[in-house]
Formats: sequence, C-alpha cells, structure tokens
Amino acid sequence: MKYIFVTGGVVSSLGKGLAAASLGTLLEHRGLKVVLMKLDPYLNVDPGTMNPFQHGEVYVLADGAETDLDLGHYERFTNCTLTRANNITSGQVYETVLANERRGDYLGKTVQVIPHITDEIKRRIRDLGENSGADVLITEIGGTTGDIEGLPFLEAIRQFQLEAGFGNVLIMHVTLIPYIKAAGELKTKPTQQSVAKLREIGLQPNVLICRTELPLDADVRQKLSLYCNVPIEAVIEGGDVEHTIYEAPLNLQDEGLDEYVCRALNLQGTTPDMSDWRKFVQRIIHPKKSVRVAVVGKYIELQDAYKSIYESLTHAAAALDCAADLVLVDAEDLEKEGADKYLRGVAGVLVPGGFGDRGIEGKIGAARFARESRTPFLGLCLGMQIATIEFARNVCGLENANSTEFDPETLHPVICILEDQKDVTAKGASMRLGMWPTRLGKNTLAHQVYGRDEISERHRHRYEFNMAYREQMENKGFIIAGTSPDGGLVELIELKNHPWYLACQYHPEFQSKPNAPHPLFKGFIAACLAHQD
Ligand code: GLN
Repeated sequence: MKYIFVTGGVVSSLGKGLAAASLGTLLEHRGLKVVLMKLDPYLNVDPGTMNPFQHGEVYVLADGAETDLDLGHYERFTNCTLTRANNITSGQVYETVLANERRGDYLGKTVQVIPHITDEIKRRIRDLGENSGADVLITEIGGTTGDIEGLPFLEAIRQFQLEAGFGNVLIMHVTLIPYIKAAGELKTKPTQQSVAKLREIGLQPNVLICRTELPLDADVRQKLSLYCNVPIEAVIEGGDVEHTIYEAPLNLQDEGLDEYVCRALNLQGTTPDMSDWRKFVQRIIHPKKSVRVAVVGKYIELQDAYKSIYESLTHAAAALDCAADLVLVDAEDLEKEGADKYLRGVAGVLVPGGFGDRGIEGKIGAARFARESRTPFLGLCLGMQIATIEFARNVCGLENANSTEFDPETLHPVICILEDQKDVTAKGASMRLGMWPTRLGKNTLAHQVYGRDEISERHRHRYEFNMAYREQMENKGFIIAGTSPDGGLVELIELKNHPWYLACQYHPEFQSKPNAPHPLFKGFIAACLAHQD
C-alpha cells in the first residue's frame, strides 16, 4: 500500500482537491486501484450544518455522509467508492477520543493531542487504506500549511511516514507561485517559506505542484528545486486550465507528474491511455452548438454552491456535443422583477435544492413560467417541492399552498414533515440522507429517460410531498412518476400536458460522471436543444 499526502501552501483555494483528483485519474488510467480521502481540520463534525457561503456545496455520499465538495471531484475523476470514512474532520476525531475517554479507555492517563488525537487520525487513515484494497491512498489535508488547526494532522502524517516506511509515502505540496507585475517576475519565496514551515514539523515535500498564471521557466524551477529540496523533475507546473477543470489531469500528465510519482513510490503500471478523457475534454472545448439554460437559485453568485449541478450539466452537454450556456438567475431578483424578464428565450429552467424561505417565491415564479411556456424544467429536491407548490396554487386553486418549512400555518401544506420526523430536533445528520430506491411508473417520461423500472438516488432533505393531496393534484394533470418501493414517499413528479417537466426529491447531480452523464441531466439538455430548435 502506498500513501500520498496532499498539502497546501501559501493560500487556500489553490485547487488541491482538483490536483489530488487529477493524480487519482492518472494513476487509475495506469491500471492502479486508487482511493481518495480528505482530512478537514475544522471542528464541525461534518459540513452538513454549514451554509454555502462558508462551505460551498455539501456533497452527499451513497451512505448518507454529508461531506466536503472535494469528494465530488474524487468521485467524478475516479471510480473509487467513497463512504463516510473518506472525509474525516477534527470534530469527528475529537468526538471519538472524548467518547473513549468517558468510557474509561485511557484510565489513569492524561489525554493529549499527541498521542491520542494523532493516533486516532493515523488509525483512520490506516484503516481506510487497508479496507479499500487499493494500491494507492491519496489523502488531501484541508486548509493551508501554518494553520493552527492543521497541526495535529501534519504531525500525524509525520509519524505515519515513519511507521509506513519512507519509501511508501509521498508528500505532494500544492503551492502558489505569484506573479508580481511591477517586477515582471514569478516569485518563489512564499513557496520556500511554506516548505520551510512543513520542514519545521518534520515533513519534506517530495513533489511541488506550482500553481501559476505564467509558465515556469528553467530558472524558477531550478530555484524551487534548490531551496525546497525537491528534485527538478518533481517541480510540476500547475497552470490555470484554459477551458475546463477536466484539462487538469492532461496538463499534469504532460508535466510528468504520474511518471515521477510512480517512479518515486516504485509503483508498477502502464503509461496511461487518456484518450477517453481527452475526447471528453475536446467535446467541451469544441462544442458544435450551445443551449441556454437558466439556473434559478439563491446562491448563484457563489461558484461552489451548485458545483455538482454545474458539472452534471457540463457532462450532459458534452455527451450531446453542445455547450450548456448557463444563465444564472438570482431567485430574489426574479421575485421582484418577474420571470419573463429573466427567463424569456431560455431553452430550459433548472431549480436546484435549498433551505430556508429566501427566494422561494421567485423559484415558484420560475416553475410557473416553465409550466405555462412549455419550457423544459428540471427541479432538484427543493426544486420538486417548488414545482408541487406552484401546481397546487395555480392549477389546483389551493390558495397559499406551501411547504410547512416556509409557512408552518399554511392551510394547504402540500409539502410537509412526516409524522415520525416531527420529534427530531437535532440539526446534524438528521435528514433523510443517502441512497434510497425509487420505483418508476410505466409509461412515464421518467421511465423513458432512465430506461429502467427501479433506480437508486442520493437524498438530503427533511420535507416530503403530502400524500393527502395526491388525488386532487393528479386529477389536474400532476403525475407522480416515481415513489419509494412501498409507495409511501413521492420521489419524482412530472406534468401531463408538458413536453418535458421533471422534478425529483433526490439529488441526481451526485451521480454524474464525465463520460457517464446522468440520464436526467442528459434528458433535460436534449429537451432544451429540441425546445430551442
Ligand atoms: N429544504 C428542503 C427540505 O429540507 C429541501 C432540501 C434540499 O433541497 N436539499 O426538504
């Protein structure tokens, strides 16, 4: 078993997750079995209770773990299966150690960061590595070298390296080489200092991924090699991608990253054949046509809040040889100024998931616009609840119908909390989470799109369709196209008199891959293309 640790230097947001995932792709294409994990130094037990401004999207795994969005990169870039064991936070580590302490496991001893916290971190890394049956475990450490919170993780890695054998561990430091315009130069000093910081803890990076806006010339490479004590061929240029993040593995391959890593870790494996990946990238870079799709959300100014949705749209569009030209609409603007202003002329409308009542009426307006103008519509999670409320109000005449999330006193709670959920007061990990099966109705659009009778999709929500309204709504052309196998929970809805209107209670965006787009997204983009023509 070989272990690769990915650390970050100088600043955050360097794309460490992407670098880790890209290395994963390259090693997998060499025929190696790869698994990825992330260590997050914050004290939250998981990111499930953080808002998108703090944390971007919460990525949900098959087992229901609410994790960091980097795990989305890992799943999209590789074939590894991830579970809650693949995203460890300081919060979880402390939770375990403190529970052990209360049980009396350390009786007589003082419980300390070293060894108790570091032992727990090492145990989790080792267990994951051994249970995965992989050749290589790539572990990304969140945050930046020098952060106080990150220290126990770096210390644990120092010990881990000693225990696993230096030949079996590689440290890849993703760092920034800033360009100083006034001097007309790329500067290596911040990287030298962040490497010095790592050495202070006892870690010597083996590979530098140098994030830079300009090519690294021979001088800069030489300097980095000399001062950071890294062989020159392990100084890897990590330039900004030109068109799409999916170029990153190809660029890193050109720089010889996987070649070097395999040599350093004595890993066998063939030269990777990246032609499938390259074709996918080419389809993104040279689309034959484009299609305008509106996303109506309340976090549209944040790049990371709807990450998996944007990626899924990219995968689907590439598969259809087109580009999804996204029109990002703030639901609150739409609420104020009307759907027509923002949505006229778009080929499709997508309403993503969300929590809380800000922007809700705008999203309802968007759903109404799509229904009335026969524009393709895809609603995800909250998007399905929105579609339900819209239909109840404007087609069934149920005045002020709402979800009890937004109006607990509504006369028509078409979306509500189920009886057995009512007493749940804790906010962490208390939703309907993870994979749940859905049975699709025969002769539905959904069945046609998926091409199967039963599917399994990832969930993250509290509220559900209220079955008391089923008959009334169905009589008006609302179709319940998918339910839980026992028929008790509504998973997917569509509309009778509409060319393409689908909304699901789950999150299909967590199961789309570059060369395997999700059927719902692919169907949606195909419908948008047809609508546009
Ligand atoms: N707020 C809604 C619920 O809890 C929808 C959640 C979501 O879109 N992920 O049911």
